[in-house]
Amino acid sequence: MGEDIIVKTIFYEFRVYGVVQGVGFRPFIYKLAKDNNLNGNVRNEGGYVRIIVNDKDFDKKIQKNPPPLSDIERIEKYDTKEVHNSFVILESKDLHESFKMPSDIFMCEDCLRELNDPTDRRFGYYFVTCTNCGPRFSMIKDSPYDRENTSMDEFRMCKECEIEYTDPNNRRYHAQTTACKNCGPRLKFVNDNKNLVINEDKAIAYTIEKLKQEKLVSVKGVGGFHIVCKIKGVKRLREFTGRSEKPFALMAKNIEQIKKYCQVSKKEEELLKSKERPIVLLEKKNKLLDDVSELSTLGFMLPYTALHYLLLDKFDEPLIFTSNNLPDEPIEADFGLTHYILDHDRKILNKVDDSIIKVIDEKPLFLRRARGYTPTIIDVDGPDQICLGAEMNSSFVIVKDKKAYVSQYLGNTANEFAFDNYRFELHKWLAWLRPDIKKVMCDEHPNYNTSKYAKELASRFEVPLVKVQHHTSHLNSIRIKQGFDKFIGISFDGTGYGDEKTIYGGEIFFYDGKYKRIGSVERQKLIGGDSGTKTPRKILFGILRKFMKLDEIKKLDMFDDAEIKLIDQQIKSGFNLFDTTSVGRMLDAATALIGRCNNGNTYDGRCAMLLESRAKNNPLKLNPLIEEKRGLLKLSTTHLFKFLIDNLDKDKQVLASTVLHYIADGFIEIIEKINKDNLPVVFSGGVSYNKIIAKKFFDKGYITNHVLPCGDCNISFGQIQLN
Ligand SMILES: [Zn+2]
Ligand SMILES: [Zn+2]
Repeated sequence: MGEDIIVKTIFYEFRVYGVVQGVGFRPFIYKLAKDNNLNGNVRNEGGYVRIIVNDKDFDKKIQKNPPPLSDIERIEKYDTKEVHNSFVILESKDLHESFKMPSDIFMCEDCLRELNDPTDRRFGYYFVTCTNCGPRFSMIKDSPYDRENTSMDEFRMCKECEIEYTDPNNRRYHAQTTACKNCGPRLKFVNDNKNLVINEDKAIAYTIEKLKQEKLVSVKGVGGFHIVCKIKGVKRLREFTGRSEKPFALMAKNIEQIKKYCQVSKKEEELLKSKERPIVLLEKKNKLLDDVSELSTLGFMLPYTALHYLLLDKFDEPLIFTSNNLPDEPIEADFGLTHYILDHDRKILNKVDDSIIKVIDEKPLFLRRARGYTPTIIDVDGPDQICLGAEMNSSFVIVKDKKAYVSQYLGNTANEFAFDNYRFELHKWLAWLRPDIKKVMCDEHPNYNTSKYAKELASRFEVPLVKVQHHTSHLNSIRIKQGFDKFIGISFDGTGYGDEKTIYGGEIFFYDGKYKRIGSVERQKLIGGDSGTKTPRKILFGILRKFMKLDEIKKLDMFDDAEIKLIDQQIKSGFNLFDTTSVGRMLDAATALIGRCNNGNTYDGRCAMLLESRAKNNPLKLNPLIEEKRGLLKLSTTHLFKFLIDNLDKDKQVLASTVLHYIADGFIEIIEKINKDNLPVVFSGGVSYNKIIAKKFFDKGYITNHVLPCGDCNISFGQIQLN
């Protein structure tokens, strides 16, 4: 006993790293210390939680049952000369040496119970949150995460809230977003002239009334506004947004409601119910919502705020929840676009879109990584730097103190508003992180806004500008995480700058410290540059022209005389003509041939996704034709199209399936020809989302991105220079 007392007078310092701020960590430590009769203190530092305590095994106690939202990376232990005779929580120190910002998450079960409990003082309050839940990143001004550094600083806590906030035994102890009806943010229903129509509780009832009348209502959420409407309002929504074909996401009040329309696997259900609450793309099981999505999938999410629950509660079917922005523009966080707007007075400081995940072979693939997951922080071994990414599906990365901070999805930077928002975010993150920049990285494409801006930044910071090839960046995004020093990589997508005249997009590389291109799909003509990308028929024409006479093409009844003459002229003159090895473009052309691709790529990846949606039955037997040209193994796509022409009378679903199997089998055959040493094989780029191709690759043990998206959003991370 006496010995125990002596031991307990020796204090230790513990530093806990990981996701440990804004997740109820300090009250947890406080309670743990109190329960064990220990003395000392706990405080948030810039990048960790620092604990002084008279127990040398305190780290083991922490690890036993940490708060649900925390994610402990490591705990360091140091000696200290400090001595204390009670245990207290100290205020945060304003340190910029590191940056930890928690992500926006759902509303927890405890809060949901309060929301629905008529005896609770937060009954029906649309902004219920606690230490374990609620928005975070979207309302942060600066690190560390404390109330005065968030947009909640405008709301002075009432007496009751303050008592909860300062009681270490309360679930809302230091819950920075805590509020109640008396002191927190308020709802207001306004019209598009910003005139107040109706306030608070009545605003919800009014919103429900308008939705039931099939009106479109803009609803302010966590990272921006949504446009919400009933399923029956979809036609009106298409007219209003100008998205005549693009699928819309839906929100359902529970998983049972989703299962009426879609198949939900174990992994998909887990993701839908996860605290990040992403949109999950699910396979339809009936045609009930074909007006909402022309694809074989529907994007569903579950409610993630109290307001969502209050709205959904009054409907027995899902509601359409689509982001409130014009095509290609960033999500709007300051105002709703529709005539009816459900607004509130808590500012959104950082715009974040809903995240989108597709599950293939029970593995998650991010189409968009944003709300719930931002900021993404990954350990990397490189100097401080900025990586600006590509153009579509943009993101940036700032490396600081051997950590890569990956921004949220920032849309298509070819759009000036999206690019403005991109720059705005970049500068904000630079101010938060204050890196000691040694390099600036960008794509090789000279005309991307991000590439031009990288040049400007490099000269401003007086550091070297490094241009990284698009498709090797895709592969780097996996290599850097996996640490491979030798591997084979497939990089395939729609577009990426290759060399002067070729647009890459179906490449195989060997890596052993340097990249060597060893395989590719056959070159085809991309007629008319960008307009050719939007109209796959032109690419199809170019492929068919390789082996068909003009009158044979005419007999297909797909092109009229004038068109045939025009495109053929274009090919002959070489005007605005590029070569492309892009798999995305080949899938487009196949969709154009097999049918059902009217209007072309009216949204990103549309034709390829239609092909995937169609590919249901077993493929026809077609062995890949691999040809060796100038040291490169090439998968012949002309061979595929000849076969399709010969079999055009066959079932279209079978043909669609044949195309995807041919591409996958072709890549696999090339890999097996060259991979004598059984090196790891990775694949990345937008085509990775294709479920047939990805499944075949997974069956072979190939690896893709599961934290970062597979598409161009991973380019910024893949540009990181490790030395
Ligand atoms: Zn909660
Ligand atoms: Zn209050």
